[in-house]
Amino acid sequence: MAEVFSGRHAGFGEKDRTAATPAEGAEVRFPPRLSLRPDLTDDGAIAEALSALDPLGRLGSDREPVFLSLLAARSSGRRFSYLGLTTASERWLTEVSPDHLFAADCRAALEETFRHGGLPGIPDDPVDQVLAAVRGLAQDHPGAELTLGVMPLGLGHGNGSGLAWSCDPVTGEPGLTGSFGAGLTGAQLLASGGADLAAEAATAPWGRSLAQLVRAAQLRAGRPVRVDFVVTGGELFALRVDHAGFGGRAVVRTVAALVREGRLSTGAALTTATDTDVAQAVLPVVDTGSLPLIAQGLGVSPGVADGAIVFDPADAIAAERAGRPAVLVLPESRPEHLDGLLAAAAVITERGGRTAHAAVVTRGLGKPCVTALRGATVDAAGRCLRLPGGDILPAGAVVTVDARTGSIRRGACKRLEPEGGEPGDDVAWLLSQVSGLPQLTVRCNADGADAARRGLAAGAAGVGLCRIEHMFLGGRRKVLERVMLAPRGASGAEAFAALYEILRAEFAALLAATDGLPLVIRLLDPPRHEFLPDTTVQRLREVNPMLGVRGVRLAILMPELARCQIRALVEATEAARRAGGDPRPRLLVPMVADPGEVDAVRRLVDEVADRPGKGEPGRRIPIGAMIETPRAALMADALATRADFLSFGTNDLSALVWGLSRDDAEAELLPGYRELGVLPESPFELLDTAVRDLVASAIAAARAVRPGIEAGVCGEHAAEPSALRAFADIGVTYVSCVPSAVPLVRFAAARLAAASAEDAASPAAAASPEGRHPAQERIP
Ligand code: PEP
Ligand code: MG
Repeated sequence: MAEVFSGRHAGFGEKDRTAATPAEGAEVRFPPRLSLRPDLTDDGAIAEALSALDPLGRLGSDREPVFLSLLAARSSGRRFSYLGLTTASERWLTEVSPDHLFAADCRAALEETFRHGGLPGIPDDPVDQVLAAVRGLAQDHPGAELTLGVMPLGLGHGNGSGLAWSCDPVTGEPGLTGSFGAGLTGAQLLASGGADLAAEAATAPWGRSLAQLVRAAQLRAGRPVRVDFVVTGGELFALRVDHAGFGGRAVVRTVAALVREGRLSTGAALTTATDTDVAQAVLPVVDTGSLPLIAQGLGVSPGVADGAIVFDPADAIAAERAGRPAVLVLPESRPEHLDGLLAAAAVITERGGRTAHAAVVTRGLGKPCVTALRGATVDAAGRCLRLPGGDILPAGAVVTVDARTGSIRRGACKRLEPEGGEPGDDVAWLLSQVSGLPQLTVRCNADGADAARRGLAAGAAGVGLCRIEHMFLGGRRKVLERVMLAPRGASGAEAFAALYEILRAEFAALLAATDGLPLVIRLLDPPRHEFLPDTTVQRLREVNPMLGVRGVRLAILMPELARCQIRALVEATEAARRAGGDPRPRLLVPMVADPGEVDAVRRLVDEVADRPGKGEPGRRIPIGAMIETPRAALMADALATRADFLSFGTNDLSALVWGLSRDDAEAELLPGYRELGVLPESPFELLDTAVRDLVASAIAAARAVRPGIEAGVCGEHAAEPSALRAFADIGVTYVSCVPSAVPLVRFAAARLAAASAEDAASPAAAASPEGRHPAQERIP
């Protein structure tokens, strides 16, 4: 665990007993310590140092003796503990230590240390012990910095050791929590658990000082802290101040409180709270700790939920109607399962990956989902989950799906309802305090008006990707199925009319929700198999549907299908404008591989818009090329001359750059690669360097022919805070992620902005002509 601070190292002879906190003038009091010069071998000087540390001469005495430790810092970290253990002091230890083991332990450790240093045993004079230790260390580690410190023990009546947290480590509820062991050393306290600190501190004479000390340590660290302390001879000492062990909610809540109090700058708060802290802070606090782990997979849509397992979407719907939470367990998910996915509290699929159907859909719905189970199999016919150890979990068994860690546990979880607002309130408040534009704007992926509103409420600056096909999951899938199989003539026209009505209504609602903000609608991009019944006509079957007739290819082969979508968008836009709104739609063309494909879509848009009353000049809907095939990335300059903006689909781009199936690779291949050390991370999770370089060169080539062209990222990597720095560096202008990830990504973008503001303020950056990156240019 990291020691945050342990007091200033004083020069020889200079005592350092306190670390003052300027904010309140309060003091965190540490045991006295001294820095010794490394060349110090003079007995007189050592004796002088000891009397400075132990003015009452209690070293080695038989009444509450003082013990010391000597540390060779920097070069070795070697520590001599319990210097000052003499026959007299050992007698005292044996009397006060209830288990009598402490003295024996000390003696054995010290004997070992001295044997290592070439001494046969422990000299009875503490001064001799210190001298031997100092000489040994100075010899072994020339130039090492030596620190001699008093070790308060907490043993004996009226003394004790404690662990104090500055707030509840899970919820962040302000106030002292922790444990205290009367008459115990720190090690004994850890073994026994101790008593409740808040109750002890309320009556103990040191209670007030402890509260002040912990508060001062928190102010000084600018974050919640854990203080290990000792009470000895009526005095309170901090032994160590640490910040490990706090949950994200506690960290964010505390730093937000410190900013509100004017004790911490917003910039410092942004860097203190990590991405993991923020991700935890926006989720409800759930305790799963004591539930047995029964299976492990990949957590692909964050959150935790419990329920009885069901193996049929219809059972999930029935359970929801009856008010019982259900966990839907499937071998893999398909579009026809949508109603079940909507009804379930959480979803488990045996197969899948971060960018597979179940993951993309549940993330959009904001439901926990675990896929790519390791060793567990779904027996849909037998309605049971076969667990790795051979156990069988039948339908109706209650499980907790913890998609934060990808774990499935037996039993229901405990939801903690901390006071102090909704999850995410503190993140939102901190973001509201950030001034200045981030380098990257954050939009949301939303397939309907509800999701768009959720994303905008979380601070998204528009919708960066609306996948039309997600409007046709579940019951509406039939509409698309009819269109795909439609014959020419009247019944075909009927199928298209039904499609148009749905699209027009969905677009109108989305335009209303995003009024005044960009709304990127993507042309239908289903691999056709996802929307066709299993018994589909042979002519539409494809061996590799993900590489087949999808995206722009579908629009070109079925222009009437593209026209229907474009007409619905153009007409919904005109209606919104007539009603006084400020609609800002954009049309995104997926799976482009050739500039001619963008031209083909533009012709269709012009055709629809040129009809009387459809679109005045200058009000044409901008058309974007979605770059998700390597060929499109390599032809980005040509695409930039045809398209109004670019959007990188890093899910398909990663799959195609690697030649990996996004639906299968994370089940066996990538975990196998990780185990064998071939590839530590999944390219579907963390942005791969080759994909990053391809995006970088595509943006550079596009901007060489069209300097201001907007370039966004809408694949799942947009929700990965660790990729943001790379995106900003290569000139990406916006990222678009699921609504639930918007606060996390905005937080990371704000942190980047704060860091670059700091860089810009440094004299070196001011002198550098490269100081201003093209990504910082605002594109109208
Ligand atoms: C992508 O490929 O990155 C993308 C956003 O599209 P989809 O996941 O719908 O294929
Ligand atoms: Mg794609």
